[in-house]
Amino acid sequence: MNRIKPSKIVCVGLNYRQHAREFDMPVPEEPVIFLKPPSALIYDGDEIVYPPLTRELHYEAELGVVIGRTCRNVSTEDARGFIDGYVCANDVTARDLQRKDGQWSRAKSFDTFCPVGRTVAARDTPDPNRLRIRAFLNDRLVQDSNTSDMIFSVEQIVSFVSSVMTLFPQDLILTGTPQGVGPMQKGDRIRIVIEGIGDISNRVV
Ligand code: MG
Repeated sequence: MNRIKPSKIVCVGLNYRQHAREFDMPVPEEPVIFLKPPSALIYDGDEIVYPPLTRELHYEAELGVVIGRTCRNVSTEDARGFIDGYVCANDVTARDLQRKDGQWSRAKSFDTFCPVGRTVAARDTPDPNRLRIRAFLNDRLVQDSNTSDMIFSVEQIVSFVSSVMTLFPQDLILTGTPQGVGPMQKGDRIRIVIEGIGDISNRVV
């Protein structure tokens, strides 16, 4: 498996219309971004470690964008040319700490909180803004949506993030999660499936 080694992981919060409704949040006017450290990365089949500091560990199925070329201030129109490919990702979140801290760094950054799969080349993904995305918790379907429900498209997100920070090859952008997020317990298996991209499966320990 090709394992990405990003210099940073940029995440978009609240990027699906249904998910915004689920949390009773207004639709944002521009992407809200936060960072996960590369130390949170694990890969398909690795274990998600339930930290003792949280009582509410959540899965978030997300389409990940892998950058292919260094970019800064790229336009929405040109953004596709800077994308190497796409991965299945899970933005694992300590929901109670996210509420408690206000700032999201701790809640999103524990080791093992960013499972990702192998990269599927951008040329093999004609329209990343039209992919079915699902999560299965112990084989039970818990998230089922389509990237067409995203508020900001993949191209808009790459352009927006590049207006803030320089993106380097292998940098990873998580594009937000659809409705249906929920808790995981030790012993659970969480599987993320994205049409045309593949799937990842990780057990919580
Ligand atoms: Mg997320």
